[in-house]
Amino acid sequence: MIVPRDRVAVALSGGKDSTALLLLLNRLLPAWQDVQLVAITIDEGIAGYREATIGAAEQLARRFGIDHHCISFPLMFGDSLDGFLKGRETQACSICGILRRKALVAGAQRAGATKLATGHNLDDEAQSVLMNVFRGDLSRLIRNSASDSSGKFIPRIKPLSRISEKEIALYLMLKNAWNDLPECPYTRYALRREVRSILSGFEYKHPGTMLHLMDSKEKVEQSCADAVISAPLRSCRTCGDPSSGDLCQVCLLLQSLGR
Ligand code: SF4
Ligand code: ZN
Repeated sequence: MIVPRDRVAVALSGGKDSTALLLLLNRLLPAWQDVQLVAITIDEGIAGYREATIGAAEQLARRFGIDHHCISFPLMFGDSLDGFLKGRETQACSICGILRRKALVAGAQRAGATKLATGHNLDDEAQSVLMNVFRGDLSRLIRNSASDSSGKFIPRIKPLSRISEKEIALYLMLKNAWNDLPECPYTRYALRREVRSILSGFEYKHPGTMLHLMDSKEKVEQSCADAVISAPLRSCRTCGDPSSGDLCQVCLLLQSLGR
């Protein structure tokens, strides 16, 4: 995932997964003298939640002497997530996810990164597979592998994607880095919460379920390689970012929100 002379931007929310990711990558760093780390934190503007996690992220980056960039929704998109969501709370995670992906890429570009590392763990990845299946969204299931020729694309890596949430929690406890931070107030609307509960029950009764789901996704990706993955990305008509259609997801979303 990481090669010599990479400058790796770590998406650091301050939560458990991104903290574990930064601890691990920073621990490996002495062996990679020609690889640099930089941390990117997104401030979505979620009152009563984000302040604490941003503080934890700043503290961690300072502790390791890692460059830290914070990108805020109001500065980038003209409003906070709370502002965008008035009356649309049930769509919180999909709106947040689309905007956050763009903000992370902007942060990584600003930091001169060659890779963008996120802390998605096995549970997150398996939940996403199941959610895309439940929604009948095959294109999203295999989208990660799209190619782009605009030169703006920064490859995303997920070093923890085969490590379970429990293992990450255990690692943090052993490293004395466990911190109890508030939960996003919008999680109560999230489909992911229900899927997480179903999947945890299955994993408990049938260990290996989450890894098998990931294997299934990879097999589907391989089978679709010729039909879908070869379709190159274009440039968004409004912002110029890589896009599969005339407008990118962010510009479409902002348009639908009347911005
Ligand atoms: Fe955004 Fe949803 Fe995560 Fe909250 S729970 S930070 S709204 S994706
Ligand atoms: Zn766009």
